Amino acid sequence: MTSGAGIYFDGMTSARHDVAVVLSPDALQIAGGDGRWLAAWTYDELEEMAAPANVLRLGRRGNAVLERLEIFDAEFAAAVVARAVNIDRTGTRQRRQRGSVIGWSVAATASLLLVAWFGVPALAARIAPLLPVAVDRKLGDAVDIQMRGMLDPRNSGTAFECGSADSEKAGRTALDKIVRRLEASAALPETLRTFVVRRTEANAMALPGGQVYVFRGLIDKADTADEVAGVIAHEIGHVAHRDGTKAVLQAGGLSFLFGMLLGDFVGGGAVVIAAKTVLQSSYSREAEAAADAYGAALMNRAGGNVHALATMLGKIGGATEPGMTILLDHPETKARVAAINSVAGAKSTTPFLDAKEWAALKRICAG
Ligand SMILES: [Zn+2]
Repeated sequence: MTSGAGIYFDGMTSARHDVAVVLSPDALQIAGGDGRWLAAWTYDELEEMAAPANVLRLGRRGNAVLERLEIFDAEFAAAVVARAVNIDRTGTRQRRQRGSVIGWSVAATASLLLVAWFGVPALAARIAPLLPVAVDRKLGDAVDIQMRGMLDPRNSGTAFECGSADSEKAGRTALDKIVRRLEASAALPETLRTFVVRRTEANAMALPGGQVYVFRGLIDKADTADEVAGVIAHEIGHVAHRDGTKAVLQAGGLSFLFGMLLGDFVGGGAVVIAAKTVLQSSYSREAEAAADAYGAALMNRAGGNVHALATMLGKIGGATEPGMTILLDHPETKARVAAINSVAGAKSTTPFLDAKEWAALKRICAG
C-alpha cells in the first residue's frame, strides 16, 4: 500500500486539510485537495506523536512547528510505520515514555524549588544566559510562530517577509550586507536571522534565538543605511543580552519554565501569552540603556556611524520596540540620544551601503 488519505495541519493555522499521502521510495509526500504538494518528509525524520488509539499522528523530528499528519486507516498506517525507521510501535516507546515521565517529575520539582528560592523574574534573568543556544533557538522558533500570527493577521505566510519577490531581492542582498558586517564585529554565539516584515510601524524587535524583525516602517523612516544599521545593532544588543528570552521566560512564568524543562514550548498556552507580552510590553530602562551601549559600541567596532543610531532613535521617539510609546521630546529619549552620541568615535566611518544598495534596501518591500 503506497498511498492513502490523511488529515494535515500546517502548524501555523488551525485549518485541517484533507490530503492524499503518497509513500515514494525516499519520502512521505503530502498533496492537498487541489493536487499541490504541501510537504515531503523523509522517512528518518518521521516521529510518532501522542494520539488516540485509532489514529497514527505523525510529526517531524526537531520541528518547532506543530505541523502534523493524521492517518486513520490502520492498514495504511502500518505501511507508513514499516518505512519510518524511528517509529517502533512494539512497546519500547511506552517504556521510554515512562522513563521520561520520571525525568520530568524530577525536573518539575527542581524548577518549583528554584522558583520558590528566586522568584520567577529573577530566575528568568538567571536562567536565560545559561540556556544552550539550541534551546534558545527552539524557544525563538515557537515565539516566532505566535508572533507572526499576531503581526500578520491576514496570514500571508512567507509574503509577510519582504525580500523574496524578484523586485525585492536586491534589497534583501543589501540588508544581508549590513547584517553580515555587524555580525562579523559582534561575535555572537548564535547566527542572526534578520528580516524585514510588512508592517508600517517604525519598529524593530529581537526575539529569542537571534531573530531580528525590522519593520518596513523603519526602513521608510530612515534616511541612511547607517540609521538602519544602528537600530539593528541595538537589537543585536538585545540578542547578546538574551533580553527576548528573559522577557518570554518572565511572561510565561512558571508554566513556561516547566515547558522549557520538558523541552516542549510549542502548543502550550504559555508561549502564546509570552509572545503577546513581548509584543505589548517594553523592556526596562536598564535593558534599553544596555542595548544602546552595546549597539553604539558595535557600530564603532564595525566602522559605522554611531550618531546614526542616535538620529534614528530621536526620529522614532525611542520606540525601538512595539508597545513603546515614549514621545519624541521625552527626557528619557533625549538622555539616550545624548548617551549614544557621547561614545561616538572621532575617526571617520564607512557607510554600510553605497547609494545604489541603499536605494535597493528602500525598495525591499516593493514587490
Ligand atoms: Zn531596545
